[in-house]
Amino acid sequence: MKNDAVKNLFVLSGPSGCGKDTVIRCLRLMRDDIFLSVSCTTRSPREGEKEGVDYYYMSKDEFKELIETGQMLEYNFYAGNYYGTSKEELDRGLSAGKIMMLVIDVHGAHNVRRIYPDATLIFLMPPSVEVLKERIARRGSTNDVEERLEIALREMEDAVNFDVTIVNDDLETCVREVSDLIDSRAVKIIKPEEE
Ligand code: 5GP
Repeated sequence: MKNDAVKNLFVLSGPSGCGKDTVIRCLRLMRDDIFLSVSCTTRSPREGEKEGVDYYYMSKDEFKELIETGQMLEYNFYAGNYYGTSKEELDRGLSAGKIMMLVIDVHGAHNVRRIYPDATLIFLMPPSVEVLKERIARRGSTNDVEERLEIALREMEDAVNFDVTIVNDDLETCVREVSDLIDSRAVKIIKPEEE
């Protein structure tokens, strides 16, 4: 893959409940040149989530097989389940000159940075701890709220290690900021047939 292609890799990260999924959904409604790498997970689908759209859902054995065969770019064990990014899916997009977004946790973002130093790491910060608590609790049915909150508070201290921090207070402003950042950093990749 050409080095420049990695400049089109953007990692949207931040604690669970900071609004990553909503921001990326709005961003993709606003522009059609941003591609989302769909992650793999061993957790069960939540209501309304779809296979291949929100995640690729699989068993722990299947996930471990992907790790063992070197097919995972990065992965994390979080709140009792595995989450990870498939190498193939991401590299295919970048090689084709696409702007690729990963929406992953803070731990995963650092792993991506190690492999792709030219990626842009965006930390999405909730407007306050109170709002974060509310958002995590609203995710409902799960009995891992306390664990998620504890992890989230720890992760927020890590924002300084990201390229950019964007506060998700007003959704529209936040989405605009992410979009402007992408415009300022993304590069046009000339494909071989265009050279
Ligand atoms: P949720 O269960 O709420 O969908 O996700 C839990 C956490 O896992 C979120 O912070 C989410 O961003 C993160 N996550 C989702 N996909 C990946 C991935 O591919 N890799 C890593 N490291 N984290 C992920």
